[in-house]
Amino acid sequence: MKTIGLLGGMSWESTQSYYRAINEAVREQLGGLHSAKIVLYSVDFAEIEALQVQGDWDKAGQLLAVAASAVERAGADFLVICTNTMHKVVPAIAAGISMPILHIADATADELIVQGVKQVGLLGTRFTMEQAFYKDRLIARGIAVVVPDQADRDCVNRVIYEELCLGVIKEDSRALYLDIIHRLQLQGAEAVILGCTEIALLVQQSDTPVALLDTTAIHAQQAVRQALAQE
Ligand code: GLU
Repeated sequence: MKTIGLLGGMSWESTQSYYRAINEAVREQLGGLHSAKIVLYSVDFAEIEALQVQGDWDKAGQLLAVAASAVERAGADFLVICTNTMHKVVPAIAAGISMPILHIADATADELIVQGVKQVGLLGTRFTMEQAFYKDRLIARGIAVVVPDQADRDCVNRVIYEELCLGVIKEDSRALYLDIIHRLQLQGAEAVILGCTEIALLVQQSDTPVALLDTTAIHAQQAVRQALAQE
């Protein structure tokens, strides 16, 4: 079994989801007392969020590159960055390590292709919904991306930082998200990506008939496949 490197704490609410999903999948596949071999580096999210707001992605990239290098030195075979947004700085992180990075947008694109989805809605932070670093990875695989309008993007982004990353789950916010998911479907989305690792804490597949792609679960499953793959 390979050792999975997790770069977490962004926020720790969703790092818990990764830790649980990865260990459950390993137990399911290997049985008994088997559990995943994991090296976790959990950052202080307040420092990262401040750099996001300042637009200082270089500094954020440097900070995460130092953390990723520590994960590698601690014995990880590959890296899982437990946030969609901070994949924006993947080039900086990759430059400082020699282990591969399991990109969350690539894992999600693989799943979209398996499901035959050609046009998908994307929910996430404003950075993920508005900038190119994430969407372009999907477009490169032949998948068209639909994002909510400005007012809905503001709402989705606010709930992520003011509620979900703080462990706050509100019924009102769930209803807002479900309305936005419905509007994405009306805009032509055949499925919707929960492109922020905390969104599945608020909205689950049982809440809506629209097919949802939980990036945390998809990323965790792919990490386990890679960790258990025979060389
Ligand atoms: N976990 C979130 C994501 O998947 C948001 C937190 C962050 O800005 O990293 O994008």
